[in-house]
Amino acid sequence: MKTPICTIDIKSGFLCSRCQDKLDKGLITQLDIDIAKELLSLEDRAPELKEVEFKKAVSTDSMVIIIIGHGNMPEALGSRGKVVRELEKRFNKRFRVVEENSNIRKTIEDMVTPAALLGINTLWLPDGSLEKKVRIRLDDPKKLPADVRVLEEAVRSLTGERIRIVFE
Ligand SMILES: [Zn+2]
Repeated sequence: MKTPICTIDIKSGFLCSRCQDKLDKGLITQLDIDIAKELLSLEDRAPELKEVEFKKAVSTDSMVIIIIGHGNMPEALGSRGKVVRELEKRFNKRFRVVEENSNIRKTIEDMVTPAALLGINTLWLPDGSLEKKVRIRLDDPKKLPADVRVLEEAVRSLTGERIRIVFE
């Protein structure tokens, strides 16, 4: 597995000066290190992880989103896959794996699936800022992998975009 932290640092538990610098600058977080360590230790049981590039993790109160490289096929880790199950057990939170994508629509889609995304509208708020209205099919709320607020917060910390989920 490729990670933003040196493999040897993860295994030894001591960061080299370059990785320590990244941590100090906020380019990586302690959560990234913890998740990278866990993923690395799962490689033996889940060899498909060797091909995966771990980019970063974003955490909310109840959910952790793992960003992997574009084309790394999150379905390889699968929402019902053993890797995600192991992580959920270890961190006692729900996990979601999302491919890195410059297309925000695809990112949001990956996050709300299996709920059906109907569309995304961009709104100008009275204060001049932008908000994206993410429209989900009305009968799908139960299919959302997490609470609406949690998902909104996760998209924000991931993409910097403010979204509001509505059901139609
Ligand atoms: Zn390092």
